[in-house]
Amino acid sequence: MVIVLFGKPGAGKGTQAPRLAAALDVPILATGEALRAALRAGTPMGLAAKAFMDRGDLVADDVILGIIKEVLSQPAYVNGAVLDGVVRTVPQAAGLEKVLSDLGRSLGAVLVFDIPDEEIIERISGRLTCDKCSAPFTGRVPGIACDALPCSSGTGGGVLVRRKDDEPDAVKTRLDAYRKSTEPVLAWYIGNGTRVATINAVGPVDEITERARLALGL
Ligand code: AMP
Repeated sequence: MVIVLFGKPGAGKGTQAPRLAAALDVPILATGEALRAALRAGTPMGLAAKAFMDRGDLVADDVILGIIKEVLSQPAYVNGAVLDGVVRTVPQAAGLEKVLSDLGRSLGAVLVFDIPDEEIIERISGRLTCDKCSAPFTGRVPGIACDALPCSSGTGGGVLVRRKDDEPDAVKTRLDAYRKSTEPVLAWYIGNGTRVATINAVGPVDEITERARLALGL
């Protein structure tokens, strides 16, 4: 099953993605993480995306569609995927449909994380992220070692940092980009008959996982 996790930055998609991926026994495709990994590796794609990401602007659709196509074509993704932070524009949604249909697959559902802006701003202002595995944390201090998998398993060894695009100006830009370019994607999905399920994304992490599982019938 391929599912799209949809919602504002900081809505909890990155926290729920591993839990839902485990429940479905499929891997995650997170374009933000793919771009950060490309930047860490110093690839031309990563370096070109850096300024957009730091500001909180969206990266060009053709770059994102290139990642989607490359990743979803890998054998590990043959049984499906949890898409975190993809798709964010109508051209990306249309492009994803094409990639999936070329691969003989289809989108199972779009799971919308519903959350007010005030909660987003409060959450992001307290959020730290591992500089290696990108796991999100709250209630920690910068500079301490990451204890999420895979870092805790000894291969990562990441440290908690504040993402540049979690600074207040960039968060405002990201929320503006969500409203302008991403929100219209929902109407596009509803219009073409895709299964869209919405959950309340405010509350304890375990409870939100339960709501998501219930909404997806897992
Ligand atoms: P995320 O980790 O999902 O919050 O993404 C971090 C940043 O990567 C975003 O603010 C964008 O600059 C870029 N990005 C990630 N995914 C996409 C996407 N599907 N479309 C455009 N830009 C993206």
